[in-house]
Amino acid sequence: MKFTRLGDLLIDAGVITDEQLGQALANQKKTKRRLGDELLQSGIITERQLVDALTMQLGIDYIDLTTVEINPEMTKLVPKNLAKRYSVVPVRTRGDELYLAMSDPLNFIATEEVRAASRRRIVPMIAMQSGIDHAISQLYGTEGAKRAIREMQQEVGEGARDRTGVQVAEVGSENESSAPSIRLVDNIIERGLSSRASDIHIEPMEKEVVVRMRIDGLLHNEFNIPKELQQSLTSRVKVMCNMDVTERRVPQDGRAIVRVRMREADLRVSTLPTVHGEKIVMRILDREQKLNTPEQLGFSGANLERYNYLVGLKQGIILLVGPTGSGKSSTLFTMISKLNTEQVNIVTLEDPVEYNIEGVNQVQVNEKTGTTFAAGLRSILRQDPDIISIGEIRDKETADIAFRSAVTGHFVLSTLHTNDAISTLDRLDDIGVEPYMVSTALKGVISQRLVRRICPHCKEPYTPTEEELRALGLEPDDPSLADYKFSHGRGCPECYHSGYRGRIVVVETLVLDKGIRHAIATGAPREELLAAVERSGFQPVIENCRQLVRDGITTVEEIQRVIFSGDE
Ligand SMILES: [Zn+2]
Repeated sequence: MKFTRLGDLLIDAGVITDEQLGQALANQKKTKRRLGDELLQSGIITERQLVDALTMQLGIDYIDLTTVEINPEMTKLVPKNLAKRYSVVPVRTRGDELYLAMSDPLNFIATEEVRAASRRRIVPMIAMQSGIDHAISQLYGTEGAKRAIREMQQEVGEGARDRTGVQVAEVGSENESSAPSIRLVDNIIERGLSSRASDIHIEPMEKEVVVRMRIDGLLHNEFNIPKELQQSLTSRVKVMCNMDVTERRVPQDGRAIVRVRMREADLRVSTLPTVHGEKIVMRILDREQKLNTPEQLGFSGANLERYNYLVGLKQGIILLVGPTGSGKSSTLFTMISKLNTEQVNIVTLEDPVEYNIEGVNQVQVNEKTGTTFAAGLRSILRQDPDIISIGEIRDKETADIAFRSAVTGHFVLSTLHTNDAISTLDRLDDIGVEPYMVSTALKGVISQRLVRRICPHCKEPYTPTEEELRALGLEPDDPSLADYKFSHGRGCPECYHSGYRGRIVVVETLVLDKGIRHAIATGAPREELLAAVERSGFQPVIENCRQLVRDGITTVEEIQRVIFSGDE
């Protein structure tokens, strides 16, 4: 009923015609969108027109949520789930009235529910959806952390009055007053988990402490904490990770397992003394992160076929290559979980052990106690393994044992720090692996990078520049351009205004066939080796890049940043 009301109202306001309304109502049956959204999405009206019409016709005030500061206390009146479900934001109170910003002020159910929850009379206001999204993420995103900070500040203030010169806030004791610092740290971790961060950085600056999170490979500023709370915050983290709280001048390492809202995460924490205090980095290893399939990682087409072929082998060595942060270990684990059956003995050598896989014998490398990759590998070989996974080949000794195991009937998986599939062959030569060993044992090389996916919430088509086309190896008059769905993300609260959300691999897969093996074994000149590689059907990574841009999954800009800008 309220849909017809909005439609009538817009016709009355002269914003849409009867026909346009009829069309939108017909579409709406298929798309199941709300009428307002339907009119916006089909481009019949702009959001501004919709808001203006509602303001005029209903006499409701418009509020620009991107410019107002909302008191965090408002979150007590309207819980986050309600705000998100109905796209509403509590703005302020006056007497027993609550001013509520709504994207659809005609939504009677929303008004009713908020009235019941807040026990206030609702004064609706109109806001743009983008403003609502922004305000919700601002207001509720760090709400818990902000409250804890306020309470800690109060305590520090009182403590300073009561016990001048005494260390305030005894963190980690059974003392009730330590609660806010614990809650602040919990909130920071929870925020990290919910925003899919891989690392949390707590960085003391001269006047404040900055909390940044690495999301999809890049750091984002999350919030700032008053300088006077730095000590309690740092101490809490150190207590949590069993570090020496009194030692502030040397770097420390620690570990903690945290459970936040039914999810368990493994934190690897390190401190580093800086001029403004100890910087803390928490690496989040999500224990419940599901292991992926190659398709979920982003393997497709010829690369997927080659991946499946290589994993299906029974012996030899497969190398995963790329710079740090290119997702090599995720791919390695995806392979291991596929190979993990009762009939085989899989042993992994890792530094550090990141995910636990049931049924796999995982060995932690520890240089200090002498468990180097090479030493660990020798021990493993005495344990009758079928499949051996080596975290990384860094030196000749490890490389030699790995290749020898591969030619003596074992299936070996490992990673190497090189830029692409071809340079892996050069790198093995540099390390000192004999050409005949490479040609006999090496079955394939998967070289990968991670590029960010365009955010699905704010994705829109766009026209690339000639320069961008050339970066992809395309000319402006290339007939294949008709197949391209060039897109980018406008930026929205869902993606922290970056335009990207999540990542996907870009890959090139080299399978060593007879021709390539012969070229390597005979030490053929470079051109001959490259010719053999080309004959093998090898597709360089740019092919995969073009495909991702063609399908509107990532942008040219992102490809340029990751593939052509050298290594991080
Ligand atoms: Zn977005």
